[in-house]
Amino acid sequence: MTVAARRPGSGDAPRDTAWWAASPPRTMGARTTNEEVRQQNLSTVLRLVHVEGPQSRSHIGTATGLNRSTVTALVGELLELGLVRETEQAPTGRVGRPSLGVAADDAVVSLSIRAEPDAVTVALVGLGGTVHSRLRHDLASAPNPRRFVQIASSLVDGMRADIERHYRLVGAGLAIPGLVDESGTVLVAPPLGWKREAIAPRLEHALGIPVTAGNDASVGAMAEARFGVGRGTDNLLYLGGSAYGIGGGLIFDGTLLRGTSGFAGELGHTVVVPGGTRCGCGRRGCLGVEVHPGRLLELLGRRRLDEDELDIELGVARDPAVRAELERQVELLSLALTNFVNAFAPDTVVLSGYLGVLLATSREQLSHAIRVDPVGAEGRQIRLERAYMRSHLMQFAPAELAFGPLLADPAGLAPRAGR
Ligand SMILES: [Zn+2]
Repeated sequence: MTVAARRPGSGDAPRDTAWWAASPPRTMGARTTNEEVRQQNLSTVLRLVHVEGPQSRSHIGTATGLNRSTVTALVGELLELGLVRETEQAPTGRVGRPSLGVAADDAVVSLSIRAEPDAVTVALVGLGGTVHSRLRHDLASAPNPRRFVQIASSLVDGMRADIERHYRLVGAGLAIPGLVDESGTVLVAPPLGWKREAIAPRLEHALGIPVTAGNDASVGAMAEARFGVGRGTDNLLYLGGSAYGIGGGLIFDGTLLRGTSGFAGELGHTVVVPGGTRCGCGRRGCLGVEVHPGRLLELLGRRRLDEDELDIELGVARDPAVRAELERQVELLSLALTNFVNAFAPDTVVLSGYLGVLLATSREQLSHAIRVDPVGAEGRQIRLERAYMRSHLMQFAPAELAFGPLLADPAGLAPRAGR
């Protein structure tokens, strides 16, 4: 079991259009009741400390526009609910008498679960993004749904004593490399070979806690927009690459774009090489099979490298065959990025996983593709960033799915069973 450090940057000052501000605090209106206003304001304050880290009460007031006595009352209620705790000193940076800060209570936890073709991972994540512990079960081949539920359950069982002793568990978030509908049914997940599987209800039954499932790239896009390089942007295009393809997530006006069918962002199946390599979707030459670490690993004579190792290997590789394949893939990714930026006009493009590795090797060429080639992009500032947390992002990102209902209605959480 590994214990990761607290998410860096969580104590940064909030930016203009932070995610928690998407639903501004409400004041009394004709059609709102006191109760609704209170719920909305509790939600706003809890989201603020969850995303931005510990805050002084006066900063909470400034950031939310709520007056001092309201902030005091809301924080008091959140303290009583056991969702925040007081910290030694508010990070004001000012000289003088230290005041007590307010932090999300990381003893309130959710499980972050990932189903991948080569592993099942479970992490215990605290409110505020702290990864308390993590367990991984490596696999030789993709698990079927029954096997996946068995493995996930036994990993969670391994954490149960710790959870019961120290934490309050609110639920689990599950990230799937495929299309997932709102009921938690996987419609299709080619890397896992799953089709029409009601996976969230099955896992919920096995674990005995609420499970919310989502597409892994969408989960990654939301996490980048909330905690990572996408903070402060409204229109973000996220592309994540791995050994099992490329997934995309689009956030527009602060909301994840779902499309009419609910599945916008399947950009990995954009055809970039007509008649190219066959893809799991049935077509040939999709971005996800042409821009793929497999070919490079083969040329490097390696079976498997993680993101950090691949960074190093490609950074020093001088083999002409490796350089040529790298160049071919970067060219195809450039082509795709130019098209995506033309189609969606994002202000920030985030590349994650294997695509983050390509960005590190070829930043200039990829920047050129999004800055110069797209129609009307000249003079427009588009940020091109590598995912903030690299491979660590997905350790805690799925947990956000499970924190959703709590953040929306903090007072709706079941009372603490004496922990
Ligand atoms: Zn495809």
